[in-house]
Amino acid sequence: MAIPRATIPAPTTTRRAAAPPLGSDRAAMRSLRVAVIGAGAAGLATARELCREGHAPVIFERSGGVGGTWIYEPREDGGHSSLYESLRTNLPREVMGFLDFPFAAAPDSLDTRRFPRHEEVLRYLQEFARRFDLHGLVRFGTEVTAVDVLQDRHHWRVRWRKAAGGGGTDADAARTGEDEEEQEESYDAVVVCNGHYTEPRIADIPGVDAWPGKQMHSHSYRVPDPFRDQVVVIIGAKNSGGDISRDIAGVAREVHMANRASPAATCERLPGYHNLWLHSMVERADADGSVVFRDGTSVRADVIMHCTGYKYSFPFLAGETVSVHDNRIHPLYKHVFVPRLAPSLAFIGLPFKVIPFPLVQLQASWVAGALSGRIQLPSEEEMMEDVRALYSQLEAIGWPVRYTHCLKHDQFDYDDWLAEQCGHAKVEGWRRQMYDAASKKKVECPETYRDEWDDHHLLEQANQDFQKYH
Ligand SMILES: Cc1cc2nc3c(=O)[nH]c(=O)nc-3n(C[C@H](O)[C@H](O)[C@H](O)COP(=O)(O)OP(=O)(O)OC[C@H]3O[C@@H](n4cnc5c(N)ncnc54)[C@H](O)[C@@H]3O)c2cc1C
Repeated sequence: MAIPRATIPAPTTTRRAAAPPLGSDRAAMRSLRVAVIGAGAAGLATARELCREGHAPVIFERSGGVGGTWIYEPREDGGHSSLYESLRTNLPREVMGFLDFPFAAAPDSLDTRRFPRHEEVLRYLQEFARRFDLHGLVRFGTEVTAVDVLQDRHHWRVRWRKAAGGGGTDADAARTGEDEEEQEESYDAVVVCNGHYTEPRIADIPGVDAWPGKQMHSHSYRVPDPFRDQVVVIIGAKNSGGDISRDIAGVAREVHMANRASPAATCERLPGYHNLWLHSMVERADADGSVVFRDGTSVRADVIMHCTGYKYSFPFLAGETVSVHDNRIHPLYKHVFVPRLAPSLAFIGLPFKVIPFPLVQLQASWVAGALSGRIQLPSEEEMMEDVRALYSQLEAIGWPVRYTHCLKHDQFDYDDWLAEQCGHAKVEGWRRQMYDAASKKKVECPETYRDEWDDHHLLEQANQDFQKYH
């Protein structure tokens, strides 16, 4: 499939001033008071870049801690995080970390492996927040409920309230006065970092309304125990679908994974398992409890688990700010700015099929520079033109609308373009190669890729590179 090149703009459309490299302070041209929504990886990286550029960020975080998705929530009833208990990263830690803050094993590491458990990622993000003094910028237990642009299009009214069970501090409570009451403040800019792995997308299965079993989404999956001796159909065979199938196969009677991308006749038992099967997609579910696959086979299932991804959702934004249709957020210039409102409204961390931490760091640096006036954005019309060009190219290659923010084929070009706008170095060669090697290994050896690898020369280069940041 061809690559949608419109995500990489003509280099002439953005004018920039020279900037010092990542890691150094600089005097800002214009210092703004900025509301950042969310204290996950994206919100933390954004606050750091805003501070570097001389802005004054306030981070609104509805939970009681930093780390977003990486705060594991044992309860299944729909909190923010979609982590399951056994989760280990699907990227090597060297690749995954921020560009100038290596995700290296440390004396206080909770898991020193290259593909560590989720607790180690949370430790790393907490350490990032400590290292760059970000905790003091966060208003914990505070949920943003509405964000409205004022008439001048350059100032924003942010409404918020104390979040139920969010764990805000006494100081927060004193600041808000009454717990349930909404408060509002005005900001020069808003950066949205609310994450996009919380609102489930569900597969459309003919007949499922009459099917008597239990349906759930991977968002609510935590541990395998509840599936003991059951027959489970897992829809989706990507990261979560693959991991959860294997997790559950340890206790379930049978697990049947349905993969839209597999040829219609696919029906095979996976090597090393007596009870784990891969099929083509589900064709229908019947009132007698059967689930029928396109390969012609069927099973009597107790559970259908949708590992079918998530929807973008911005419940605090007025309808006319952006529209979300089939997971396309419209209109967004380079997945970040709404042309009509740029640069005072920005979104960080929307692209998927990427290495998130380096990407959000570069996006955040771009936004911080655009807000200070150091980096000039194209005109509103030029940005809209770029958005339209992207849509045309996606359409021309038959790429579904829901893949608008998928950077599977060009994340590194996108990263490098951002780096160029900001005056930073390109993403390291070893990081690209290591990502490619790990991605290949994941497909070839899904059972073992986290513990066996052969990219030792790249590991050496990465560790050498990291010496700069000790
Ligand atoms: C199951 C799973 C496995 C993953 N594995 C990996 C991996 O191995 N490697 C990797 O690099 N990435 C992985 N990711 C991707 C992961 O989402 C990113 O690494 C990263 O954590 C995204 O950060 P974020 O800040 O964009 O969003 P989040 O981490 O989701 O943070 C958003 C924050 O915003 C807050 N928030 C939301 N709405 C509001 C509001 N209205 N008011 C106030 N606060 C609000 C939330 O409480 C949350 O703290 C995985 C994701 C999932 C779901």
